[in-house]
Amino acid sequence: MEILIEFGTESQKKHYLMPLLSGEITNCFSMTEPDHPGSNPTIIGTVATMDGAEYVINGHKWFTSSTDGAAFAIFMVVTDPHGTDRHCMASQIIASNDNPGFNLIRNISVMGEKGSGWHSHAEIKYENCRIPITNIPRSEGDGFAIVQKRLGPGRIHHCMRWIGICERAFELM
Ligand SMILES: Cc1cc2nc3c(=O)[nH]c(=O)nc-3n(C[C@H](O)[C@H](O)[C@H](O)COP(=O)(O)OP(=O)(O)OC[C@H]3O[C@@H](n4cnc5c(N)ncnc54)[C@H](O)[C@@H]3O)c2cc1C
Repeated sequence: MEILIEFGTESQKKHYLMPLLSGEITNCFSMTEPDHPGSNPTIIGTVATMDGAEYVINGHKWFTSSTDGAAFAIFMVVTDPHGTDRHCMASQIIASNDNPGFNLIRNISVMGEKGSGWHSHAEIKYENCRIPITNIPRSEGDGFAIVQKRLGPGRIHHCMRWIGICERAFELM
C-alpha cells in the first residue's frame, strides 16, 4: 500500500490501491530469487524486455509472502541490464496474479509449515509474462529508490507483528 500511495499513478491507485485499502483484495511483494543473493538485490536475474506497449518478463522468485490468494504482486525486475549505474537498472512492476505468465509453483515450507493464503511464502516463475508498461510505479529505473523508501516502514511492520505475536503468546500462557 505504501508503495502505491507514494509512487502509484492515478490509474494504479484506482485499480490496485483502493481495493487494498477497502480490504477487498490482498497483494504480495516479490524480490528474492533462488539463484541470487537476496541480501544483495543489485544481482537480480528477472529481466523485462520491452515489446511495444508491454514488457515481456522472465524470472524466478521465491519466499514471496502471501502470494497464495493475492490479487497482484509488485515485483522487482531488471529493465536496463546494460546500465552502468547498478542502482538504476531495476524497476518495480505490478503484475496481476491471474496473468497467464504468472506461475505459482509451490508454497515453501517455513519452520516446517507450508501454510496457505496470507500465511504462506511462494516460489513463483514468471514465464513470458506480458505486462503493460504503464504498470510501473513512478518511473523505469526507480526500483531501488522505491525499495529503500519501503524498507523503513517494512521493518517497523515486522517488529509490530512479532510484538503482537509475543503478546498473544503471553496471554495464552
Ligand atoms: C519467512 C520469510 C518471508 C520472506 N518474505 C519475502 C517477501 O515477501 N518478498 C521477498 O522478496 N523476499 C522475502 N523473503 C526473502 C528474504 O528477504 C531473503 O531470505 C533475505 O533477503 C536473504 O536473502 P537470501 O535468502 O537469498 O540469502 P543470501 O543473501 O544468499 O544469504 C545466505 C547467507 O549468507 C549470509 N550473507 C549474505 N551476504 C553476506 C555478506 N556480505 N557477508 C557475510 N554473510 C553474508 C547471510 O547472512 C545468510 O546466512 C522472505 C524470507 C523468509 C524466510
